[in-house]
Amino acid sequence: MAGTSEPAAALITVVGGGLAGSEAALQLADRGHRVRLVEMRPRRMTPAHRSGELAEVVCSNSFKSERADTASGGLKMELEILGSRLLAFAREARVPAGAALALDREAFADAVTRAIDSHPGIELVREEQQELPRERPSIVATGPLTSPALHEAIAREVGEEALFFYDAIAPSVLFDSIDREVVFAASRYDKGEPDYLNCPLNRQEYESFVQALLAAERVRPKDFERDAYFAGCMPIEAIAEGGPESLRFGPMRPVGLRDPRTGRRPWAVVQLRRETRDGSLYGLVGFQTQLKHPEQKRVFSMIPGLEHAEFVRLGSLHRNTYLNTPHLLDAALRLKGAGELYFAGQMIGCEGYVESLATGLVAALALDVHLRGGSWEPPPRETLLGALLAYLREPPLGRVSPMNVNFGLLPPLADPPRAKRERKEAYVERAVEAMRRWRDALPTVSRPR
Ligand SMILES: Cc1cc2nc3c(=O)[nH]c(=O)nc-3n(C[C@H](O)[C@H](O)[C@H](O)COP(=O)(O)OP(=O)(O)OC[C@H]3O[C@@H](n4cnc5c(N)ncnc54)[C@H](O)[C@@H]3O)c2cc1C
Repeated sequence: MAGTSEPAAALITVVGGGLAGSEAALQLADRGHRVRLVEMRPRRMTPAHRSGELAEVVCSNSFKSERADTASGGLKMELEILGSRLLAFAREARVPAGAALALDREAFADAVTRAIDSHPGIELVREEQQELPRERPSIVATGPLTSPALHEAIAREVGEEALFFYDAIAPSVLFDSIDREVVFAASRYDKGEPDYLNCPLNRQEYESFVQALLAAERVRPKDFERDAYFAGCMPIEAIAEGGPESLRFGPMRPVGLRDPRTGRRPWAVVQLRRETRDGSLYGLVGFQTQLKHPEQKRVFSMIPGLEHAEFVRLGSLHRNTYLNTPHLLDAALRLKGAGELYFAGQMIGCEGYVESLATGLVAALALDVHLRGGSWEPPPRETLLGALLAYLREPPLGRVSPMNVNFGLLPPLADPPRAKRERKEAYVERAVEAMRRWRDALPTVSRPR
């Protein structure tokens, strides 16, 4: 990254005072820029937020693990290196939860709101932004529940087909954790390359699986999320309710597949499709679901070959405004052809509180680098943040599907330790070192506090 001049104080508009927008506003103001932060609450609420506080955490109060052998722990270490303001506030608002960073939501939101309110470089404007901001530079971080008027304005700008309003996520597993004695590679009718991994079920296994699926506990969709069903995306458990055979004639159909162990067509099949170019991560095809997370792990581990699978992403179905990032955004998270207009937070296709605030930080850094006349290099792929951004920009199969940080997104280690825990620690160690080097190369004159 080149260029280290001190910029003239620019006026930057940040739209959305959630996790990403608050982090971005503080980072930019700490670097000497003037920020106009536009947040519509409490004048206009989203269906999930309950207060007018900035950075309100809408659901679970967990920012997930801080352990050095987890992807979310690694991401936090990277954010600490980058001087994340919201991570520091989260730690101050910590409540006891073992290795997880759980927080007192109100204390957290209150601390962020006070920091922004009292920052001399930030003007907080409480109004709904109904059009894309005309001023440049701007960052839009209005989140999964972007107001309908702004959603429509963005759709007009980028095209209806490039802006999604719900996500339907199926679980993903690490390739290393799949039992390859049971699971076989094949495409239906042996057409083309054997790109799919197939988990075969006999009749008894299928019936037990369907029974467990129907009995499993579900997350109750919020009223504003019911429209996702009508968008043609049924959760797997809702398909199973259609009758005992409905999965076998739907996403678990075995046609065109022969189990090499028996030489016969299985009674039913769960297909796994590659999600990363190097094949480290596989997704369960058609298994979008609203089962509770522990239930997903329990029930999907009944699938032959997945008994010991490591689920690094779990399924969900949400109302979610997000962009077709690979087509629309450049490596600095700018809308192509729109000048200094950045997007950040869950709108760019990441999942999760910490991921969202992390992308707010990245957008702020990229903008700061540009204002200093430097050229932007995103964080390296060896970092968890860099791997997530690379995945969102270039999903290996061209499909966009919201993603959280996980080890499956990282390039393989040159010399991976055999033991699982040590391997994960080695991934994190490499990530942290790469992030330190990258941070040190940033042309930041005034470091954040
Ligand atoms: C119901 C629900 C539950 C979730 N639960 C979890 C969970 O348990 N764990 C987890 O890790 N992730 C969860 N997420 C996912 C996600 O990580 C969070 O939504 C996260 O807050 C996203 O951060 P963000 O900054 O992108 O958006 P937000 O934090 O939602 O911030 C966006 C902000 O923009 C404002 N805004 C919207 N439109 C406008 C406009 N037109 N003008 C001005 N302001 C506007 C909103 O009021 C809001 O303050 C959940 C998401 C939803 C919708």
